[in-house]
Amino acid sequence: MHSPHSPTLPPTITSRCLQQWDRYLVRGKSISFIGLGNMGSEMASNLFSKRFAETSDAHFVVCDAVPENAARFCETFEKSFPGAKLGIALTPEEAVLASSTVVTMLPSSPHVRKVYAESGGIIPALRLLAESEARSTLCIDSTTLDVQVGRATAAETRETGAEMVDAPVSGGVTGAKAGTLSFLVGGTEDGFERASPILAHMGKRIIHCGASGAGLGAKICNNLVLGVEQIVVAEAMLLGQRLGLDPAVLAGVINSSTGACWSSSVNNPVAGSLPDKSPPCERDYEGGFATVLMLKDMRLATGVSSATGSPLPLAEAAERIYADVVKQQPELAKKDFSAVYSYLERAADKGLKIRIGEID
Ligand code: NAD
Repeated sequence: MHSPHSPTLPPTITSRCLQQWDRYLVRGKSISFIGLGNMGSEMASNLFSKRFAETSDAHFVVCDAVPENAARFCETFEKSFPGAKLGIALTPEEAVLASSTVVTMLPSSPHVRKVYAESGGIIPALRLLAESEARSTLCIDSTTLDVQVGRATAAETRETGAEMVDAPVSGGVTGAKAGTLSFLVGGTEDGFERASPILAHMGKRIIHCGASGAGLGAKICNNLVLGVEQIVVAEAMLLGQRLGLDPAVLAGVINSSTGACWSSSVNNPVAGSLPDKSPPCERDYEGGFATVLMLKDMRLATGVSSATGSPLPLAEAAERIYADVVKQQPELAKKDFSAVYSYLERAADKGLKIRIGEID
């Protein structure tokens, strides 16, 4: 067995392939988790450890385009949970053949299409299963992606007899680690009921937003607010310091006044501004929500602006600014999106003007 991403796999990975498991005995009690990035690795950790606490016979399968991420996950948990039944799937097809519940946490629309719809993916594999096995399958996609792509993927999955819900999250890496995420669920009542106990292992609030795609719609609207707010907090923090204010004093004022928001009180972009907290700016903007992902979310909002007849002038401005951050300072692309502060500070230091209409 081999992965298209990694033709020569080290023994730590190949030794954990799933051939040894009796699929017919195990599939119903096994969960597969695909996408072990910043969010997925933390969510999978909570899901696995809480499932294991429920039943020591829990089976858990992990899968990532970078198989080493999956190997690292297994190594960590084998030490803490001796006897745990952990496996690595090298393809999404293997993951859905191994487990009747599959959770996906991927970057965006193309990755979701690849994992679900393309050859070696979940939907072609579901078509190969007996009808009863397909019907017992539940897919939960927590990726933030285009609403139409999410709906189409759920419809194709449901055509096989399986159930699928969109369940994007709010709460960031901190919430993923603490198991306190909010899940915004779109799908049928039955899909919501089936997904809720799984999601409860990773989050605190599980909200049924409506039919398929409704969770994604809610998430895109929330991130529209967040993306704009993070820029204006960066502007205010820079302006305040240029006016001679200490950043901790300024953050304290904003956070106890009408300007308070998550971007100022939890994800403040200036080091030293939140003495009791440790936002990404304290680690050179490492380990948060990547600027490229926020740019993607701004584009998800502006992309449906004309189709829905909703004017989004601030979303368009924010999209251009995040695009310019990535273009002017590619080193910030994978750093937390609060690094937009660095971009503004650099422009201020160099005397550069930022005119939104002129950014391409
Ligand atoms: P990430 O880039 O850190 O992780 C994505 C993971 O998916 C990576 O490990 C990658 O190797 C894997 N992957 C990509 N293509 C794959 C494929 N074809 N098969 C298997 N694995 C594949 O991203 P993240 O920060 O974990 O975010 C995931 C999603 O959650 C995004 O849609 C993002 O917008 C959303 N989100 C992120 C945050 C955050 O704070 N990071 C907060 C809320 C929502």
